[in-house]
Amino acid sequence: MHKHKIVSYRAARQLPQLAFVQARADARDMIFDTELINFLRDVRQTNASNIGKYTRNEQICRSQTLSAYFDETDTRPCGVCDICIAHKKAQSAANTQVLLRDLVLAVLPPEGIGIEDLVRQMRKNPDIAQHPNFDETSLVNTVRLLADHGWVRLDADRRISRVVDKS
Ligand SMILES: [Zn+2]
Repeated sequence: MHKHKIVSYRAARQLPQLAFVQARADARDMIFDTELINFLRDVRQTNASNIGKYTRNEQICRSQTLSAYFDETDTRPCGVCDICIAHKKAQSAANTQVLLRDLVLAVLPPEGIGIEDLVRQMRKNPDIAQHPNFDETSLVNTVRLLADHGWVRLDADRRISRVVDKS
């Protein structure tokens, strides 16, 4: 009956099928605006690239990054995004290191001092005792840094003393 065009027979298939309800235009008759297509492709690529930069960025404040995207460049760091908070923590840790370094060098007696006595000595200083980042670990790290840079030396009996010729 199909052969004689009495019925149109389509055998059932497992795969999805697509039937066009209108006749398709011949590819030779189609006009593509390649300039527009290229422009839209470039816009999409730029957007994707900007999203990538935004998510990979670990240095510039998120709020400032967004503002810069909208051509606003005269902005200040927001102070509350993850990057601003990480900067604050790093700055605070660095300030603590500097404070500890100066105080350790100031309290070290010429004959040297053991780490436990140094901790006790440091806790007597009100600036240090109240400091939120001060603990024994941060003090040990500071002493290690000072030793690495030749400011202090550790004796065989683990006494810390100042290196005199280092000023
Ligand atoms: Zn921020």
